[in-house]
Amino acid sequence: MSNVHELNFLKEKIQELKDQGVYRRLPILEGANEAEVILNGKRVINLSSNNYLGLANHPRMKKAAIEAVEKYGVGAGAVRTIIGNMDIHEEMEQLLAEFKREEAVMVYQSGFNCNAGTIQAITEKGDLIISDELNHASIIDGSRLSRADKTVFKHADLNHLEEVLKANRDKYRNLLIITDGVFSMDGDIAPLPGIVELAEKYGAMTYVDDAHGSGVLGESGRGTVDHFGLHGRVDFTIGTLSKAIGVIGGYVAGSETMKEWLSHRGRPLLFSTYLPPAAVGAINEAVRILMSTTEFTDRLWSNARYFKDKISQLGFNIGNSQTPITPVIIGDEAKTMEFSKKLFDNGVFVSGIVFPTVPKGTGRLRCMVTAGHTTEQLDKAVEVFKKVGEELKLL
Ligand code: PMP
Repeated sequence: MSNVHELNFLKEKIQELKDQGVYRRLPILEGANEAEVILNGKRVINLSSNNYLGLANHPRMKKAAIEAVEKYGVGAGAVRTIIGNMDIHEEMEQLLAEFKREEAVMVYQSGFNCNAGTIQAITEKGDLIISDELNHASIIDGSRLSRADKTVFKHADLNHLEEVLKANRDKYRNLLIITDGVFSMDGDIAPLPGIVELAEKYGAMTYVDDAHGSGVLGESGRGTVDHFGLHGRVDFTIGTLSKAIGVIGGYVAGSETMKEWLSHRGRPLLFSTYLPPAAVGAINEAVRILMSTTEFTDRLWSNARYFKDKISQLGFNIGNSQTPITPVIIGDEAKTMEFSKKLFDNGVFVSGIVFPTVPKGTGRLRCMVTAGHTTEQLDKAVEVFKKVGEELKLL
């Protein structure tokens, strides 16, 4: 076999990861993704899931999924635009539009796909994409697929954003400002009222990826736009169905015109099979649950406040988090991974997040508190954080 087929060029890179202490194997769960799980054969408290509201294994969700399977089978059978579009898919979009208080919603197969498909469809050569420097990878990749020019503004920095807008307003047809609603690695909320004001002042469009705000912020989890009372003033709001909603899928909420265009040019909708009925049945149930009770979001927030208070009282740095995402910032990459391993050995799973997911030297243990955690589980996790922090001389 030739050298090329042995993939030696990749083996060298893999060795580099090992040398840097950031190599990892895929974790294996035995059972549902819940507050406490069996992971790689060990029972641990799970502080790394995006299952914010504990819906991923909720009996009502499972029942809805099973009923959808009974009626519609297990696969959509085609891409949406050919014959993969069922009445439950339509119902899903109507429910989501009502929930998000927007005219229309277009659902894709994932949040990643939604960014990859939407950004390239709404921009073209002669446009400029203006992106917060900490935006999610799927926004970066989605922007790369666009033929528009791209530039970044400093994280959440309205002065810098205004400079960029001022310098470019007359050079381009459309300007598109893209920001995460909630930043997934830090848990801070974008300064959306200021961004929207600047967009209106300079005639730019706004695009908010609210993957971590939907189901978390605003009335009953309606998201960051609702949290700030900005309905009707953001052009494109992205949400995911894989985190708080507990299933899979991603959507963009906005106008009917947007939806009409995406149904012709949203490439994942044209070239990738549509969501399976089980997922759609469960998604629809989740949206109904959110519209009928604040029980889940209330529990999420009381758990998050409880955990964040205790962790910061220990003296850990949790950055500027304003949401249930609680980054315990360690800094050094290898130390972060060592901390994560020791937590696991003591019965708590928190994935270490290091470069290239976050900037070099800002390695962190990103704790995700959910509505599903009990106070006992959170207390135990805090106790283990204290023990490991002391062992590693970080406290
Ligand atoms: N946007 C943001 C801000 C995210 O955090 C994520 C998930 N990590 C996505 C998009 C992608 O969503 P999904 O997992 O549904 O593909």
